Parts: sequence; structure tokens; C-alpha cells
Amino acid sequence: MRLFDLHCDTAGECWKQNKDLFENDLHLSLKRSGAYAPWRQVFAIFIPDTCRGEAAWDYFRQAYAYFSDQLEKHSDVVSLCCTAGDMARAEREGKCAAILAVEGGAVLGGALSRIRELYDLGVRLMTLTWNGENELGCGCGKRFAGGLTQFGREAVREMERVGMAVDVSHLSRRGFYHVAQIAERPFLASHSNCDAVYRHPRSLTDRQISCVVSHGGLIGVNLYKSFLGKPGDAGFAAAYRHIAHLLERGAETAMALGSDFDGCEMDPAFAGIEKLQTFQAYLLERGLPVEQADALFYKNAEKFFQNLLQPQTDMLK
Ligand SMILES: [Zn+2]
Repeated sequence: MRLFDLHCDTAGECWKQNKDLFENDLHLSLKRSGAYAPWRQVFAIFIPDTCRGEAAWDYFRQAYAYFSDQLEKHSDVVSLCCTAGDMARAEREGKCAAILAVEGGAVLGGALSRIRELYDLGVRLMTLTWNGENELGCGCGKRFAGGLTQFGREAVREMERVGMAVDVSHLSRRGFYHVAQIAERPFLASHSNCDAVYRHPRSLTDRQISCVVSHGGLIGVNLYKSFLGKPGDAGFAAAYRHIAHLLERGAETAMALGSDFDGCEMDPAFAGIEKLQTFQAYLLERGLPVEQADALFYKNAEKFFQNLLQPQTDMLK
């Protein structure tokens, strides 16, 4: 089975819990993902809302150092991918293609130059906010949330200039539309669901879904039980409803998977990365055509990242 997962928090959890990326009791381990080939995985380093300024940058550097050591230690099965060529090589060698992300623009500590620094460290996408407020703008967890600040707008432009994807998951709805106004490249909601299926301020309204689609972006279906459905109804059937809704809203080329493994609590049906194979079988059984299942689990994300990770010969880097 081909798998391209747009979001997991495993890198940070390994660091915090001093665990091994290959073999662990987390949602995701390199060992338990044997069914997936090719397997591309976005590993996000999450910056807590309690961390600001230089402390946010230091936090990132510590998690990054640990994760880099893990990638080095397991370089026989995983490889950090910064270009489309890197992804092709990882695939040829049968390795997991790891793509690095930061979850929380607070990492910049208010300095635009950090975007280029992150890019040079291999970061290829960044969530502008988490649920709270930072130098870039307001997250979705704030009442009467504002949108992007002037710095946030400049950060979006700089990210696009260097070749880093803008991730609007966690962003306030106002902030979302500010991104849509200024973005010149496709942007993504790496791990966000449909508000019309199950209401939640973290989820996307139908208008937001249409907006991502019209920008050629991606929406990664999140498997967190509190976003999928009511308590006790957050298994395969609930996830299917979000996928069916995305299809109804014309998001066939935008839908993807953003598991959120190791970033939240899952229904037992989604208790680990090995369960995605069973989930795919369930979707096929429910009548999802094979091509659409592949678009969801792999193809749409692959196309987005092939485009993002091509050398930008037309731009000054
Ligand atoms: Zn998140």
C-alpha cells in the first residue's frame, strides 16, 4: 500500500520520552510500518504555546537534534528528504521518505531570517500557529480571534519565496482567509477535518474547503477522536464520513491523510500506523473506488510535494 501521511508528532514524542524511532510503543514506529511502500511521512516538530521568543527556537533545536540523531541511527530504513530527487532515492532504496515540518510559527521568535535557516535545516512546511496567538497571528483556540499580523503576512511571502509550504491547520478562520488572499502557491491544511460533518473550531468549513481546492492545496484528514465525531463514534465509519464529505465538496484532488499520530488520542480502531491498512480495506469495502483511495492515501500529497520540492530555477533563493 502506498502511504503519504501529512502529519505526525512522533519526532517530538521520541525526544520528550527518550524513545527510539524504529522500535517503540508510540502510534508510529519505523518497524511497524512495513506494509507501506513507498512510504512518505511528514514528521512535525511541535512548538508548545507556552514557548515564545528564543525559548521557542531553543526548544526546536533540541527536538531537531534528537530527531536528526534518530534518522542517522536508522539511516538503513529512513532518509530525510529535502528534494524530489531525495524522495525518489528513498523509494528506490525501500526507505521511509521523511519530510520535516514545524508545527507553530512561534519557532521564528519574530525573526524572518529564521525561515531560511529552517529551510537549510531541511524544514519544508510550517504550521503558522498552534491554537494560541503568536507573532504571526491567531490560532483557532482563541475567542474573537484575529487573523495574520503584518509579520505573519511577511512570513507567508518569505516561506513561498524559499520553497516552504504554508500549513493553515490550527489557524483562525480569519487568518486562513488572509493566507488565501496573499498565497501565490498552493497551501495545505495538513491535519484538519470537516466542520459540516462534526463541528469543531479546528475543522474547516465548506467555504474553507472550496478555498483550499481552488488554490490547488491539500486537506489531510485528521484521525484525532475529538475531531472525527461524538464520543464512542470516532472509528472508521466517522473518518469515512469526513472523506465522503470532502468528495461531495469537490475535494477529490485535495483530500489526503494527516493522521496526527502521537499528537492526540485515537479511537482503538486507529491505535497505530499499522491500522491504516485495515482502514484502507474498510474504505474499499464501503465502495470508495481504488483510485480515490490511492488519491487519499498517497497520490494527491505526492503531486503537491513533487511540485513543492522541485528546484525553483525561476526564483531567487
Ligand atoms: Zn496539530
